[in-house]
Amino acid sequence: MILIHACCAPCVSPILDELNDYHVFWYNPNIHPYREYLRRLDTLKKLRDEKGFELIIDHEYDIQKWLEKVIVLNKKNDVLRCRFCYADRLEKTARYAKEHGYDSFTSSLLYSPYQKHELIKEIGESLSKKFDINFYYRDFRDLYPKGDEIAKRYGLYRQGYCGCIFSEFDRYGGRDNENKD
Ligand code: SF4
Repeated sequence: MILIHACCAPCVSPILDELNDYHVFWYNPNIHPYREYLRRLDTLKKLRDEKGFELIIDHEYDIQKWLEKVIVLNKKNDVLRCRFCYADRLEKTARYAKEHGYDSFTSSLLYSPYQKHELIKEIGESLSKKFDINFYYRDFRDLYPKGDEIAKRYGLYRQGYCGCIFSEFDRYGGRDNENKD
């Protein structure tokens, strides 16, 4: 049985069609603001209701702790910021998987071409050793067109930025939008 960390419904949906024996795990304190967090969680619940999988929700959302840590790292560079963010979420997943008797863990973060794929892989493999549990690695990025189609079919909300306020600024006001009028 695999425990799949879901960063959001559109990213996890095509992965579910590839695997047989799994539960889905939600832990994403990196999503800001809080109403966006709730919207993405509600979208995952909608997918759960459509497809009928087991969804485990970790509601921890300590925005104070998360921002204190990430603001310091972000001053240095965004790779350090994302390293912390991936490791935080994957560690929660690996720990839960180990403590609850799963064979493996993985993450829908491996699906998005916009994520730092090699970094996620490296962190997953390191946590696999730390918790003595298999990290199910696959490059799911080839499923990207299929994910689009599933999101449209189920009417899933698709967000425009990764999650944190830094990524929201990069997308709508910062370096990803340098040529705006
Ligand atoms: S850009 Fe995404 S992965 Fe990186 S810190 Fe922000 S929410 Fe986390």
